[in-house]
Amino acid sequence: MIYKKTKNINLDETNGVIKEDKTGEITICENCEMQLDKVKEFENLSSRDLSILKTPRRILNVNYPVKMDDGSVKVINAFRIQYNDSLGPTKGGIRFHPEVNQEEVAELAFLMSLKTSLVGLPYGGAKGGIRINPQSLSLSELEEVSRGYVKEMFRFIGPKKDIPAPDVNTNPQIMVWMMDEYERIAGEKSPESFTGKPVSLGGSLGRNESTARGLFYILEEKYKNQNKKNLEVAIQGFGNAGSKIAELLFNIGFKIIAVSDSSSGVYSKKGLSIDELIMFKKKGGKFIDHDGEKITNKEILELDVDLLIPAALGGVITKNNANRVKAKIIAELANAPLSPGADSILSKKGTEVIPDILANSGGVIVSYFEWVQNIQGYYWSEDEVNQKLKTKILDAYNVILEQAQKYNLNLNIN
Ligand code: NAD
Repeated sequence: MIYKKTKNINLDETNGVIKEDKTGEITICENCEMQLDKVKEFENLSSRDLSILKTPRRILNVNYPVKMDDGSVKVINAFRIQYNDSLGPTKGGIRFHPEVNQEEVAELAFLMSLKTSLVGLPYGGAKGGIRINPQSLSLSELEEVSRGYVKEMFRFIGPKKDIPAPDVNTNPQIMVWMMDEYERIAGEKSPESFTGKPVSLGGSLGRNESTARGLFYILEEKYKNQNKKNLEVAIQGFGNAGSKIAELLFNIGFKIIAVSDSSSGVYSKKGLSIDELIMFKKKGGKFIDHDGEKITNKEILELDVDLLIPAALGGVITKNNANRVKAKIIAELANAPLSPGADSILSKKGTEVIPDILANSGGVIVSYFEWVQNIQGYYWSEDEVNQKLKTKILDAYNVILEQAQKYNLNLNIN
């Protein structure tokens, strides 16, 4: 991603995240640029369209003071990047992480723009980040940080401008604090200003498991004529997305042979009992303490399985380990688990990849349903939500299959 140095970017506010290249131009989100350049080979994109798509529409970088419990003041650095709003108000999560940076948020906002467009939502793409370690804050400090973000961003967000949602380390409670702060400043009720809220305060039934359920509908369709008992699956990450996809696939007979959390993986060639592992995690267990056979997080990515589902972090398969990946199909439930370098290696090897912008789009689809229900003030049953999710994600899947066939491509753009 190349920016001219213009008044749109305040270099003093970037904390050194935006780099300068040799020509003196500012670079950010190189992955976005590389991906768009690949698209250019297939689609007749004008240089005008391409330059618009290569550039985030708005970068907000703020530093705001928050009073800590001990009376001291901490200055919090936070971002919101509204990448592209051609299709409607922008939409995307807010991530709390000590290392979140503008480059990462720009890439995620770019992916959100592609995702909402691919699945036919009337939204553009955005993403937010707050550079804190939420584990180091008390509940009241976390609330102050969350409310402070909304105070800073108020003029730029809202149901018709930009609708945030949870992401890594943010949850329904944080969305409610943020919505409440938004409503306090706006002076009116506005449940449609944030999604991912608890059901009792305007959230949608089915939202919690929608990311995994969306991928589940795709996999159910993809493997509809195959005997699931013979299909071996490995899943990295056993949080909201990973544990739910494990459960849904397990319930229709897939053989899940390995799963992991950040501490370790557990492995069984005969197939794991996912119900037992879910109970183990509910009691607060870490897989390193489980008495099953262990496998590392590195090894899990290299298992010879029918289906590998990275459902933890981005960037776990790169050009350094892609050659050792033996899975026949990879479904990217995490955001950007494959680097562009890994994409080309896997494509040459014939590995099929279900890309993140489709595979994990169930979350934003049901967020959209939440926004629609809030605007209507009329709420749907869980079955209705799931049925609508299935229709929307399978429509997008079919479009992507048609395009892949038309251009003789792997599902990833290589
Ligand atoms: P989560 O926090 O609930 O779970 C993350 C899981 O990954 C945990 O099991 C954790 O132990 C594991 N993990 C953390 N660090 C790890 C490491 N270094 N190695 C291996 N495992 C590690 O998060 P989630 O909501 O399940 O999200 C997982 C991924 O899915 C993220 O990339 C997220 O951006 C993506 N995603 C989630 C949603 C959603 O609605 N939950 C939607 C779209 C995309």
